[in-house]
This record gives sequence, structure tokens and C-alpha cells, in this order.
Amino acid sequence: ETPHRHAVFGHPISHSLSPAIHRSFAREFGLDLRYDAIDAPAETFAAQLAEFRAQGGGGANVTLPLKSLAFGLCAQVSDYAARTGVVNTLEPLPGGGWRGHNTDGPGLIADLVERQRQDLRERDLLLLGAGGAAQGVAFALLDAGVRSLTIANRHAERADALADRIGEPGRVHVRYWDDLATQGSWDFIINATSAGVEGGSMDLPFAIVAPRALCYDLSYGRGATQFLAWARTAHAVHVFDGLGMLVEQAAEAFAIWHGRRPDTEAIYAELRARLDSV
Ligand code: NDP
Repeated sequence: ETPHRHAVFGHPISHSLSPAIHRSFAREFGLDLRYDAIDAPAETFAAQLAEFRAQGGGGANVTLPLKSLAFGLCAQVSDYAARTGVVNTLEPLPGGGWRGHNTDGPGLIADLVERQRQDLRERDLLLLGAGGAAQGVAFALLDAGVRSLTIANRHAERADALADRIGEPGRVHVRYWDDLATQGSWDFIINATSAGVEGGSMDLPFAIVAPRALCYDLSYGRGATQFLAWARTAHAVHVFDGLGMLVEQAAEAFAIWHGRRPDTEAIYAELRARLDSV
């Protein structure tokens, strides 16, 4: 039997944990699976993806900065991906071409609700960032029942564009990043920026953290250090990084390709130990 060939495309990509996660899932089912990390700048991504397919490649993942681009390359998209406009999982169609999915939103909800046992209903959510990751998770968070969603992005026009795309003006608001300190407080704050990963500083006011707050950083490892430390100093009660989401979005992708959703606990524990030891 020929091995299943998968890959994640992104730029940069060398530190991706996706190959380790998918190889672990494959071991669970005894599947012969190859999963590579392919460095693909936006300019050459389409050609690299075609080449991967021509060489027998199957399902693929797509990460920063290619998620909107990938959406545009798909012959079909899932209902959820169509709402978000961004794709992180490509499923090969039998006759050629791709069906695009977004597993970031379902992955975040699986981590928050099932692993971390958080009740998201009745929470007022502040979403920091309006890039590909924010777009991918906003709709799932609204579906999960948050009471309101406020989007703040350094460049405000991107926050406006995301709010327009969602189209629920009574429930979704936009605030200027620089005015946050005077705009109230939230009991659920998600950092969907790449500031930590890029070594940038966010300078967030403590006043935005309401009592009993839940704070979640989509990043993990060193990229999450700054936001998580800020959240603890602000006395947030529940503080999580994005490792659980990473593992869950991968499990959702694996299920799309192989029809079976793997158990995520073993690889989650292994990667958690690895991150905690550095
Ligand atoms: P994008 O490049 O699409 O967006 C980056 C976002 O970060 C933009 O909103 C940008 O604002 C903002 N930003 C960057 N630097 C700063 C700064 N110094 N201060 C304030 N805002 C800043 O990236 P993605 O949305 O794809 O990814 C964002 C993060 O989410 C990454 O760290 C990524 O690792 C993580 N992620 C984690 C996943 C998981 O499974 N755990 C899945 C997907 C992403 P502006 O528009 O103003 O430039």
C-alpha cells in the first residue's frame, strides 16, 4: 500500500509541530503516513501545492500567511470555511482540485469546551487581532454562544472588515486598539495576534480584564509568554495557551482525510511536557 502523503504549507514553517502531531495520530491507527513541512512564500504557494499533488500528495494543511490565498484556490469549500473566508485544511477532490475547510474554529471550541471544561455562554468576548486566525475562530465562538463579540485590531479597518463579514451588528462591535482602556472590561479575552510570535509588544491595559475572566492565547510556547503573564497579573482566573487548539484543529483535519477522529490526549501531554521544559 502506498503511504498517505500529507504536508503543511506556510512561511516560516520550520518550527511547525504539525508533522509530530499527525505522525502520532497515524500511529494510533497503524497508518503508513508521511507528513512534511513545506516552506512556501505566498508568491510560489500555488505552484508548490500543484507540484505536491502531482507527486501523489493528498490532504494538506495551510498556515500563516497562506490561509486567504488557499481559500481562493479551492474548487469547493465547506459551509464553515465559506463563512470565514479562510482555509487551513485542503481535502483532495477525486477528479482534481481541492475542497477547503477551516478547522481552527472547531479546534478552539473542542479545546475550550471539552478539554478545559469552560462554559462560553453568557461571556462577553474581546478578540484581539483580525488576521487569518481571528477570522477562523470568530464564527465558531459566536456559534458556541458568547453573548457579545468585540473586535480590536491594531489596523482598525481589518476589524471593521471582519465585523462586516459576520454581519450581526447587535452582537458584534469594533473598538479602536488605542482606546481600549476606556471602553469597559471583558470576561473573555482571546489573543489572536502574532505579536508574541514576532517579538512585538502589545501594551494592553489591565482595566479591560473583568472579574473571573477567561484569557486564551492562540499562540503557544514563547509566543504566548507575554500575553499569559499579562493575563495572570490582571488576575484572570482561567488562562490558557493555544497548544490544545493546535492539537484539536489537527485532529479535525485528520478526520476529514481519514474518516476517523484520533484521540488527542497522548500527543497533547507529550507536547505540553516538551513546551514546559524549555
Ligand atoms: P496574521 O498574520 O493573519 O494576523 C496577525 C494579526 O496580529 C493581525 O491582526 C495583526 O494586526 C496582529 N499583530 C501583529 N503584531 C502585532 C502587535 N505588535 N500589536 C498588535 N497586533 C499585532 O496571523 P494569523 O492570524 O494567521 O495568526 C495569529 C496567531 O495565531 C499566530 O501567532 C499563530 O501562531 C496563532 N495561531 C494558532 C493556531 C493554533 O492552532 N493554536 C492556529 C492559527 C493561528 P494588524 O492587522 O494591525 O497588522
